Amino acid sequence: MHHMTLAEIARGLADKKFSSEELTQALLARIAQLDPQLNSFISLTEELALSQAKAADARRANGESGALLGAPIAHKDLFCTQGIRTSCGSKMLDNFKAPYDATVVAKLAAAGAVTLGKTNMDEFAMGSANESSYYGAVKNPWNQEHVPGGSSGGSAAAVAARLLPAATATDTGGSIRQPAAFTNLTGLKPTYGRVSRWGMIAYASSLDQGGPLARTAEDCAILLQGMAGFDPNDSTSIDEPVPDYSASLNGSLQGLRIGVPKEYFSTGLDPRIAELTHNSIKALEKLGAVIKPISLPNMQHAIPAYYVIAPAEASSNLSRFDGVRFGYRCENPDNLMDLYKRSRGEGFGAEVQRRIMVGAYALSAGYYDAYYLKAQKIRRLVKNDFMAAFNEVDIILGPTTPNPAWKLGAKSSDPVAEYLEDVYTITANLAGLPGLSMPAGFVDGLPVGVQLLAPYFQEGRLLNVAHQYQLNTDWHTRTPTGF
Ligand code: GLN
Repeated sequence: MHHMTLAEIARGLADKKFSSEELTQALLARIAQLDPQLNSFISLTEELALSQAKAADARRANGESGALLGAPIAHKDLFCTQGIRTSCGSKMLDNFKAPYDATVVAKLAAAGAVTLGKTNMDEFAMGSANESSYYGAVKNPWNQEHVPGGSSGGSAAAVAARLLPAATATDTGGSIRQPAAFTNLTGLKPTYGRVSRWGMIAYASSLDQGGPLARTAEDCAILLQGMAGFDPNDSTSIDEPVPDYSASLNGSLQGLRIGVPKEYFSTGLDPRIAELTHNSIKALEKLGAVIKPISLPNMQHAIPAYYVIAPAEASSNLSRFDGVRFGYRCENPDNLMDLYKRSRGEGFGAEVQRRIMVGAYALSAGYYDAYYLKAQKIRRLVKNDFMAAFNEVDIILGPTTPNPAWKLGAKSSDPVAEYLEDVYTITANLAGLPGLSMPAGFVDGLPVGVQLLAPYFQEGRLLNVAHQYQLNTDWHTRTPTGF
């Protein structure tokens, strides 16, 4: 049962081959058996899952249908879930039970999805390896000595290990696409404003975006359908109609113009990943796509700009965790200052503290113009590069990451080395564009992803290209040994 995709589950439920309750029980048992190896869940929600599954079965018995009705999923542990711990991977929120559901959680529940639990993540979504979690590192099911990527490493490891078919995730600088690449999944970061951020604990508000992680583009279409849409509770949500994503999967790729940026293939890219990227280009050419070389000249400035803007916004967002209103409070404070200092010093881990310091510095009087304002100008140049490129091409293709998943601990003492691994993913967040990573082969037994980027609100185009690619390749069907 655990090998089924969301699409297969929907067909099985519709044909009464099994009930949602049976499926939920089977997956909960599988999680209990296998997750101790991976650590991909922070909390399991068995009771909620079984009651949601029974309710979905009853709705189906009453004649209702829907691709998500009775489908088991999990939420990255930064989506608020009413009455259930929402930790954001941090000691700061270890005891936090959200008083309400995030819009994404509420929408998926209304569509009949069954929540199996909350998945592990880098603390406050800061990281590319899932090693900064207060709840411990997550292991990559393809090789348990390696990281699964981050910050949505728990969602990725769980789906890759067939503990469940799909999960929600968020992407501020790559946290959906990079773990998808590292674990052989398909992951989509939507256009900024496509998916509501209400109830999604903020890291860097102008970059954060929720999206689906699944094994196939077809399943990403199903999950995105349930997540996307205008939300008056989120002031940056955009009031654009949501297309039927599943209906967009079957378009022909004849004449599709694919831009391949020359900057993507400069030094730093593992040559074996370059070769797999070229293979995926050839596969798409066979389907009728036309390749055009393009240039994104400001890409080299994107990492420094991102690592000023994201920490600046984080330092502001995380100021609310003061030990007074909610979250962790230190024992026996001497006075108010001591309460603030020790609550934050004890509640936040090293990477979060580092980012708060960098961000507060970049925003401080006297340095604001030199760092934050400069970074915002680079952000505009990065966006302009994309706008110029999309005058010539329909999508942009390249590697998702310069290297495959590294060994646990290999970069934890060198944060900048880890930041550099985000080189291909962060530009989409700076520009607010949608991006998708899809499986494209293996290097030393570790999965490699190819990234597709499209103009604003062209999620359907990304899913279409990925689905056609997946109809003609079998990388996405490979399963890690032991799972
Ligand atoms: N690795 C990036 C960072 O640490 C991106 C994380 C994310 O997308 N949440 O900021």
